[in-house]
Amino acid sequence: MYRNFQHRHHKSNKLSRSNTRIALLEFCEKKYFLNYYTFSLKKIDQKLRETGIINKKIKTLDMWIGEKTHFLISDYLNLLKNKEDTEENINKIKEGLAEEMRYDFDNSKNKNYDEPIFWERGGLCEHYYWEDIDDKLEETIQKVWDNLDKFIQSPWVGKIREYIDLKYPIYIENPKNPDFESMRVDTRWIPELKDVSIMASPDFWIKFSNNKYLILDWKTWKEPEMMLWIPEQLKVYALKTLLRKNRTPELWDVEIETHELYLPSTNTYWGKIQQEDLDDIVKLIIQDVNFQKTFLVDQDPYKNQPVSSTSFSRTQDEEKCKTCPFRKVCEELKTFE
Ligand code: SF4
Repeated sequence: MYRNFQHRHHKSNKLSRSNTRIALLEFCEKKYFLNYYTFSLKKIDQKLRETGIINKKIKTLDMWIGEKTHFLISDYLNLLKNKEDTEENINKIKEGLAEEMRYDFDNSKNKNYDEPIFWERGGLCEHYYWEDIDDKLEETIQKVWDNLDKFIQSPWVGKIREYIDLKYPIYIENPKNPDFESMRVDTRWIPELKDVSIMASPDFWIKFSNNKYLILDWKTWKEPEMMLWIPEQLKVYALKTLLRKNRTPELWDVEIETHELYLPSTNTYWGKIQQEDLDDIVKLIIQDVNFQKTFLVDQDPYKNQPVSSTSFSRTQDEEKCKTCPFRKVCEELKTFE
């Protein structure tokens, strides 16, 4: 799920684990450091920290498509839930989003990124790095619209409508204003994880009965060529559901069906959660968290202070750097390391 919003602040600063965070750590340790420990650049150089903050706030066109698709589908599902999904209303939310995107694009293009005004620091990565992307705006809006159209044409909408008519409780994630408290996985019941925050929130879920759930998540990123197992993220969502219900990672008689839907293709990967999926994911989370702790002073998840920036290595894959929003601060940091 999606990641670069105006967040409400976390209540605690202790170490947290999410799929996004682990994916970033595996992608490039330096990028993980720059994204999650930007504040620590202050100790190195104030100007460097400012560049770090800007780099953290800008997003690439692909990230933007992902974010806006999530906004639009969430708005659409709310229309569906309230039985207001008329063509006119759907066009209204599409046009509204497009207008907002055109406004943000202009703003981003004309922004002086050297101006140290904190709240104006968002924007598009391509503009920040002086790329001319004027001809990409309408194409980008079209891609977001197309993702919604494909979603509407998928069999999912018919099913969701049916579930709504049958009055099953449904949950629609609000990506514009994520609620961190409800994103939190209750780790009190897993002793090895009680000192970290685990964050996870599916885009959509339904409770059919006291022991039957369906979880659905959508993605706009590059699709895997083949998916042989239930994606990790879905297992985490299932774990979260279970911990909330049973207060133990034991499945017992609970049935959880999980689906990952790719847009615009609408290919879906799915699976019914088995006990071994839960055992695997608990082990994996413990392993991830232990790895994350190796980058912390005293390996202390409560203090959550990173070790020296030099301990976070840069990826060797130059392709990854070409579109990385952090490439400026990453380069500048080299002079201090
Ligand atoms: S520019 Fe490359 S090395 Fe630097 S943070 Fe980004 S991906 Fe990592």
